[in-house]
This record gives sequence, structure tokens and C-alpha cells, in this order.
Amino acid sequence: MPEGLEVEIYRRAAEPLIGREIARIEVDERVAAPGVLDRIDDELRGGTVLSARRLGKQLLLDTDGPTLGVHFGMTGRIVVDDVAAIDQLEYGSGRDEPRWDRFRITLADGGSMRVNDPRRWSRVTLDPDISGLGPDLLEVTYDQLRIAVSGRSRPIKALLLDQHVVAGLGNLCVDEVLWHARIAPAHPAGELTGGEVAALHRCMRQHLPVMLDRGGSHRGEVSPAFRAALPSCPQDGAALVRETVGGRTTVWCPVHQV
Ligand SMILES: [Zn+2]
Repeated sequence: MPEGLEVEIYRRAAEPLIGREIARIEVDERVAAPGVLDRIDDELRGGTVLSARRLGKQLLLDTDGPTLGVHFGMTGRIVVDDVAAIDQLEYGSGRDEPRWDRFRITLADGGSMRVNDPRRWSRVTLDPDISGLGPDLLEVTYDQLRIAVSGRSRPIKALLLDQHVVAGLGNLCVDEVLWHARIAPAHPAGELTGGEVAALHRCMRQHLPVMLDRGGSHRGEVSPAFRAALPSCPQDGAALVRETVGGRTTVWCPVHQV
């Protein structure tokens, strides 16, 4: 699914929309948040896109009217001026079927932005409330992370997947940063030492941008695409364990992650 890294790629793909006028809006009612269908045409048509921001997995397009929020669900992709930002999501189809277009903005200059989503779990909002989201995965500071884990008994993996704690981390990115940081996914968050939290933060700052540059959250050392070729831990050769932690399929190394 699109994690914060994929949505950062989508945000960059949306930057060419800045300064352009919205001429027409089409929304599949199944992806519209409550109230959006009543407002969107009146409030966005004729408006101009002013900026393309992101917090976590939420794309935010500011206009001279409301801010348009897009969440891409499990399989949503952005297509700007008929160029897909990502050809194929890890678990999605690479096909760009017109019937999967759930949201479409046509610009006055003839260009367009589309959200193409086979499963329809994308969500379009106006002026989304993002106040409950934690700091962004690419911006979170050491102090924010230290405070977030303090006193928490949940497994560190479950805590990091909580969008109120860190916005934008998903299953693949969490497995990757915990593997680099040598921390077991089931380790109770509040029992991490200061050094372990520092290592976790350092690994997030170091490795998430590398994955972003490589093309997304599936481009880590222990992500499925790489693991298929190398089923053992790239650090020590131990057999990687696959089990459920925090309700999600988790891959980790029982030798160097403690
Ligand atoms: Zn290992």
C-alpha cells in the first residue's frame, strides 16, 4: 500500500499542478468523505492550486479556496497529465484502467490530475483535519520519538504503525527501520533504552530517504522484493522470521534484533 514514501513521490508528481486553474471535478461518491459531494464543485471549480504538501500518507493540495486532501488507501495512485508517478505498487496492478479513476480534476489548460484506484479505498476530503496525526516520518525529531515511546507498553512495531505517533510509517518501512536499528518488533516501546531510541531515530533519518530515492517502501534491505532473492538476514545470514506483530505480517531477524 502507499506508505508515506509513496505519497511523497505522489506529492512531487503533483507539484506541476501549482499555479494551474481547476476547470472541472469528477468524484466517485464512494471515495468522497461525508459532505464533500455537496461542496467540492462550488468551492474548487475556478480555483487555483497554490501548493502541494504532505503529512504522513495524506496529500494536501492548497487552493485559493479549500485545501484538498487525498488519502490513497491500499491501491490508489496519482496520475498527473497522464503520467503515473509510480508505475506499479508492490501489491497493486500496473494497469491504468479508466474505470478505476475515482477522482479527476481537469485543468483549464487541458491537463489533469487523476486518482486511479482499483479497490476504491482512496478518500477525498476538503479541509481535512490533520491535527491528530503525529510528526511526519521524514521530519520526526529524536525528542518527539523519545516522548512518543516513553511509558508505552505496546510493541514498538505497533506503536510506530500508529499514525497518531508517527505519520506515514507503514508495514514495510517499520520492518526496515527496526531491522537497521537492531530492535525486535515485539520489544515493548517503553522499555527501549535511550541509546536504542537514538539508534531508531538515526536509522529513520538515514534509511527512509534511501528507500525514497530507490522508489519507495518496498525498496528496503528486508522488503519482500529483496527478500525473495535473499531469504536470510543480509547482516548475519540467519533465517528471517515471518510472524504477526501488532496485527501485521512482520519480517525480522531473531539473531541481531533484540
Ligand atoms: Zn540479522
